[in-house]
Amino acid sequence: MYLAKEQGKNNYQFFSEELHQILAKKLQLERELRKALDEKQFTLHYQPKIHLQTGQIIGMEALIRWEHPDLGLIPPIQFIPIAEETGLIVPLGEWVMRTACQQIKVWQETGFTQLAVAVNISLRQFMQNNLIEMITSILEETGLSPQYLELEITESMALNVDYTIRILNRLKGLGISISIDDFGTGYSSLSYLSQFPIDRLKIDQSFVRNLNPRNQAIIKTIIDMAHNMKIAVIAEGVETQEHVDFLKEQMCNEVQGYFYSKPLPTKEIDSFLQVNRYGESGSMV
Ligand code: C2E
Ligand code: MG
Ligand code: MG
Repeated sequence: MYLAKEQGKNNYQFFSEELHQILAKKLQLERELRKALDEKQFTLHYQPKIHLQTGQIIGMEALIRWEHPDLGLIPPIQFIPIAEETGLIVPLGEWVMRTACQQIKVWQETGFTQLAVAVNISLRQFMQNNLIEMITSILEETGLSPQYLELEITESMALNVDYTIRILNRLKGLGISISIDDFGTGYSSLSYLSQFPIDRLKIDQSFVRNLNPRNQAIIKTIIDMAHNMKIAVIAEGVETQEHVDFLKEQMCNEVQGYFYSKPLPTKEIDSFLQVNRYGESGSMV
């Protein structure tokens, strides 16, 4: 029934053995996710964000990982969709927010005073009715100043423009930054860009990965448009010197990708920060 509904109204699907397997696997994953939350099997990895002109480390994106006792490290793409479907993303997202804010506060206290943290927020989380209260209380609890918290949302939020504007304005009112993740791949409508209070666009990695003439044109256009609107631009998926050179030429503000660092566990980021220590804040030269 659900599969038929997913494909639109007035539709049907035959129940098959294959479908049975898929549903059984989903149910099992859901059960395991609940257990994982109770047993604290989740962990955050952090990926540095670099200011392109100065080489300074300006922040970290928090990326969730599931350390499954038997299956090893499971990437988010394999469980976030199920967490969203089942609503488990709400407690999971709260855990991510609290852990990321606590950790960035620790790094700030060791001398990286300007380091910010970016947390991914999925559509289901954005729609939860206590989102603002949840974030406010975590900021209070951890003592992190709101200017160092950034929320990464996706273009799917633009499906409900009025609601999104209301929530984003309240978040901005708290002093939190907002960025649009995977920009250029979703249900883009330029009209929301003029209405949403956005600080940053993240150019999707698919454009950066393949720098053919068309993707170069898209990147240039995004940067130009964003800058005219006083919105900063960060490119993700930066893997090579060629990517860096092109983005520098285009005056892209910030970069993130394997060229600088993969997302790493807390301990390894500790060393990464120490190695790239440069005065009050980190710097990549
Ligand atoms: P995203 O927010 O767009 O994160 C970027 C993804 O690209 C990450 O995958 C990162 O590991 C990967 N990446 C970074 N630099 C490079 C690079 O240079 N080359 C390549 N090939 N990949 C790179 P990851 O960690 O597997 O996360 C996938 C997605 O899962 C994220 O995409 C985000 O949408 C979602 N996600 C991750 N953590 C959370 C979370 O805590 N909450 C929610 N709601 N979603 C999350
Ligand atoms: Mg992101
Ligand atoms: Mg992205």
